[in-house]
Amino acid sequence: MTKTMAQQSNLSTWEHKGEHLLVLQPFMDSVIVGGDGCFLIDADGQRILDLAAGQFCSILGHNHPGFVARLREQAEKLVHLGDQYVSPEVLHAVSRLAAIAPGDLTKVVLLSTGSEANECAMRMAKAVTGRTGMLGLSRGYYGISLATHNLSSISSHPGRHDFQPVPANQYKLLTPTCNRCPIQKQYPSCEIACLDASLDLISSQFDNIAAVIIEPILSAGGMVLPPKEYLQKLRAETRKLGIILIVDEAQTGLGRCGQWFDIQNYGIQPDILVLSKTVGNGYPAAAVIVSEGIARSLETRSFMHLSSHQNDPLAAAAVSAVIDIVEQGGLVDHSRETGDYFMRSLLALKEKHSIIVDVRGRGLMIGVELSQAADDKGDLALKAAMLCERRGLHITFSYFEPVLRIIPPLVISRSEVDLAVSIMDEALTALDAGNVDLTEIIPRNCRSGEFVKRMIKPSPAALLRKMWSTSPHQWVNKLKSMRERE
Ligand code: PMP
Repeated sequence: MTKTMAQQSNLSTWEHKGEHLLVLQPFMDSVIVGGDGCFLIDADGQRILDLAAGQFCSILGHNHPGFVARLREQAEKLVHLGDQYVSPEVLHAVSRLAAIAPGDLTKVVLLSTGSEANECAMRMAKAVTGRTGMLGLSRGYYGISLATHNLSSISSHPGRHDFQPVPANQYKLLTPTCNRCPIQKQYPSCEIACLDASLDLISSQFDNIAAVIIEPILSAGGMVLPPKEYLQKLRAETRKLGIILIVDEAQTGLGRCGQWFDIQNYGIQPDILVLSKTVGNGYPAAAVIVSEGIARSLETRSFMHLSSHQNDPLAAAAVSAVIDIVEQGGLVDHSRETGDYFMRSLLALKEKHSIIVDVRGRGLMIGVELSQAADDKGDLALKAAMLCERRGLHITFSYFEPVLRIIPPLVISRSEVDLAVSIMDEALTALDAGNVDLTEIIPRNCRSGEFVKRMIKPSPAALLRKMWSTSPHQWVNKLKSMRERE
């Protein structure tokens, strides 16, 4: 694809108008001026197929006409309200959520972001139990606030110093990564021994643990699908120990995994369900849905939560519109069926490219794990993603292992899946050829270029760490092969 003109147009926008943007993470070169279903349109008119649905939010696709109309209609009536007032739209949205949420999860507060909603759920659990401890998974991601970030475990995420000091009494359970078992057992004969081992380690803290917070699929943590028995056993243990189970469905909720909520695929019932991202389709909306028992306990102790955008009518209209459109469009079934089709196509791609070591997922939440053996600098996933980006396919990747994350809008069609797979095929063919120079394909816009270069240039400390974890024998072989190439 000739991108010279595209880059010039996008790059000149960066050049002339980019100066005052605070760069806190690198930006692609494309300046996005619009959206159309599963595609983004950049300043030059180039269409980019978005396999991340924005920031994993826009399940109806970009600029869904029905969704936009509902927002416009509400914006003309009322956008925002003080926390002391309620509007009919809010009452409608919370009753819609209560109707689709499993079991007795029937009481809802609307908020704005995932971090805010998880933090609120954690506070609720502390209030109800009178305990202060919190548990997460060793590869979990729960947000960017102090409490949610500290409980998250994203390797190489920034903030080792700027998040200090952190909240106390936060502990982690081993993540059930069965394809690389943390305790060297085999699923299913292990009988979920990793959970027993984790609980054993923190047993002295049990009477001070308020809640455990989990994602049904750990997306940032490597697209890990815990076995059903793991979550079932966790549910049983938490009940026994009086620990509240909080399920964070930021990415998996609202139909992505072939059910309204992925936790339904596990057949268990959380005490608190947290929704964000997908529940607003890109409009900042979140919801904390609690069981009857927890609601009673919170209300009788006059638990308070006051946030400027709590129960805003515009967010409520977004939430109701998302539920209506998912329902009317049969998108829960579509997600399951199109997800199966996507998985089959990716498994066929795996046959062709040995660099793919695993394809896993549920519905339209899929991970494509690449071989770390081919990853001499730790930037294989970045290379693959950038090769796709240069070809008009936006794809993100997880932390830990190189896993490409496929989390598109639920409205994606089979022909769009075919297009995505053919671009991935091209990108992996280029990777297989082994002569990809990352410096040639990373963003080069005037505000992000240096940021990205710093990210991929290993620091002396990282180099030392790598030397430490690699045997001298491997280093000698590597030096030999470099000399041979010269
Ligand atoms: N939980 C999960 C599972 C997430 O993926 C995210 C965002 N990536 C969050 C919480 C935090 O949401 P937000 O960025 O809206 O605060």
